[in-house]
Amino acid sequence: MRKLMLLVVALSFFPMMTFSQAAAPAGWNDPFPAHKIMDNFYFVGTKELASFLISTPQGLILMNSNYEASVPVIKKNVEDLGFKFTDIKILIAGHAHPDHVEADAMVKQMTGAQVIVGRIDAPDTAAFKPGGKEHPIDRLVDDGEAVTFGGTTLTAHVMPGHTKGCLAWTTDLKEEGKTYHMFVECSINGRSFRSLTQYPGIVDDFRATYKKARTFPVDVWVSSHGSFYGLADKYAKLQKKTAADPNPFIDPKGYLAHVDEYEKSFEAVLAQPAPAGRGAAR
Ligand SMILES: [Zn+2]
Repeated sequence: MRKLMLLVVALSFFPMMTFSQAAAPAGWNDPFPAHKIMDNFYFVGTKELASFLISTPQGLILMNSNYEASVPVIKKNVEDLGFKFTDIKILIAGHAHPDHVEADAMVKQMTGAQVIVGRIDAPDTAAFKPGGKEHPIDRLVDDGEAVTFGGTTLTAHVMPGHTKGCLAWTTDLKEEGKTYHMFVECSINGRSFRSLTQYPGIVDDFRATYKKARTFPVDVWVSSHGSFYGLADKYAKLQKKTAADPNPFIDPKGYLAHVDEYEKSFEAVLAQPAPAGRGAAR
């Protein structure tokens, strides 16, 4: 509950933080160990803010730069895995909230990576200019578009609501001769609905997104916040895993339960009267 409150408080401050560096809620940027999720797909984020690294023979893909203050943690995690931060060739921007994209310019400066942003979220993403730095956007992607690099293909899926163009990504991963469908969720968090940027159709978008979320074949899944996908528990299981145990990140049932839970909490928030001064979203 405390975590949820922190999240709600943090999200409610976002509109004020556009042009300056934002302060992460307490603990969010604490270090978290880098680890392989499956195949060439790794976690390199902080305790709460997920970032993912995909290694290919042509270089690295990073998903989510997070806050500028997250970057030292991400860089150390990349290096702990034995990779070079400067080998990041592509940065896939997170959704247009500062806890996922604030450091895009910083990471581009450090690596020269091509920054890929979802077309719908691009204007809101470009508005984040920490320290006055222009937000780099090198390529825009649309729903269903594939990003292929070094033999890895990631496909973008617009899952609107949390932001207007929130992008989830799918790819196939291999482990012990089997292929698994990986789903990199954007955010389907509507618990903070009243604090989100409201736009026409946002409620319909959220509802359609929960429906769409159930249409993907998901074996392994992650999300933009560690707490959304049970990072701490799954990592603890990974540490204890024996050869006989399944990979704890294979979690199709957990994914569907998560969609159900977040849809319910969204509808619960919506059923409450909007606080005075906020206006009801339509
Ligand atoms: Zn967000």
